[in-house]
Amino acid sequence: MDGPSGTGKSSVSRKLATRLNASYLDTGAMYRVATLQVLRAGVDLDDAEAIAAAVADLPLTIGTDPSGEVVLLNGEDVSSEIRGGDVTKAVSAVSAVGPVREQLVALQRELAASAERIVVEGRDIGTVVLTNADAKIYLTASAEARAQRRNEQNIAEGRGDDYEAVLADVERRDNLDSTRKVSPLRPAEDSVTVDTSELGIDQVIDRLYEIVFE
Ligand code: C5P
Repeated sequence: MDGPSGTGKSSVSRKLATRLNASYLDTGAMYRVATLQVLRAGVDLDDAEAIAAAVADLPLTIGTDPSGEVVLLNGEDVSSEIRGGDVTKAVSAVSAVGPVREQLVALQRELAASAERIVVEGRDIGTVVLTNADAKIYLTASAEARAQRRNEQNIAEGRGDDYEAVLADVERRDNLDSTRKVSPLRPAEDSVTVDTSELGIDQVIDRLYEIVFE
């Protein structure tokens, strides 16, 4: 399951995994943990080599149970911290560094191979990580619909209400993620695109369930 942020991808992937009795992997959380490590190391975000060095042998543990998120950095639960503004601002820079991607892609493939059935969510799953996936879905939605959802999530989680700033951040990250040299965000040729702008979560799940069993 690939697509930009704010399409409802995480909630949809989790629910779909539960319905399919499958495991679930949030690869965005992995890039966020790498970013937290980089921020804690105080590395300059323009220095790709230093970023790669800070992330080498990342002590990351990530759970694959769709009913709850387990994300540990060196044994510490960082599931909340990786959703904060500092990590969100810096994650595109860290995820554009080749050696960071190589390390995390290897781990993603290992986790996927050890699961009987798994929904893997990210930006390059269909194009790079699991090119032989049985079903490839590209979730999309207008930038406005995505910013609206992210802003509502921020309000619900006590992170403030600023639609314009959220929209600007959504557009900035879309631009960075789709124009970067390594693994840019794009739909796999054999993926099915689903636009969620006008759909509720249950409608999306029904559509995806059909696609998986088509
Ligand atoms: O999905 P989420 O918004 O948590 O992802 C955070 C960031 O991680 C994205 O903006 C993107 O830069 C990066 N990412 C990536 N490849 C993936 C998943 C996420 O580059 N497979």
